[in-house]
Amino acid sequence: MKQLLLHFTFLSMSFCMASCQNNSSQTTQKDTSMKNDPASEKKNNEDWKKKLTPEQYSITCEGSTESPFSGKYLNNHATGMYNCVRCGNPLFNSETKFDSGSGWPSFYKPEKDSSVTSKTDRTIGMIRTEVVCNKCGAHLGHVFDDGPKPTGMRYCINSGALDFENGPPQPSQREGAE
Ligand SMILES: [Zn+2]
Repeated sequence: MKQLLLHFTFLSMSFCMASCQNNSSQTTQKDTSMKNDPASEKKNNEDWKKKLTPEQYSITCEGSTESPFSGKYLNNHATGMYNCVRCGNPLFNSETKFDSGSGWPSFYKPEKDSSVTSKTDRTIGMIRTEVVCNKCGAHLGHVFDDGPKPTGMRYCINSGALDFENGPPQPSQREGAE
């Protein structure tokens, strides 16, 4: 009986391996050498290490968190866009920035729903929701549901994951000279 069970286990294992191999052989490599290949955005960690400062690398590639009240954008009240420090993806508009008192730049919503994605993070013995750049996968920070109106969300973002670009306060605001 025990032997039969072992035999069955072996059979199911080899079946699984065979199907896994099948799967991998089905993934055909597409050789798309286009001019604007989005895959070129996805650099490996060695490339990022050369391109980013040690702190930017530690935050965006290793998921670390800068010390509270240390980030360069915490008290930035200029109007403009906070882009991803790795790929330049527009992430947060200054209009949605607020002072949460947490010690990190905080926003009540991303520029677009598609700007960022959320993942469950269980790293420090608690369940948090990690926020990553939807374009390049850079770790940005965490999102909590204790934010202000209108969304009630608090995107707690590391300055080291952001690159601020000055811009006009309202897209509709114009200097008209008629
Ligand atoms: Zn990015």
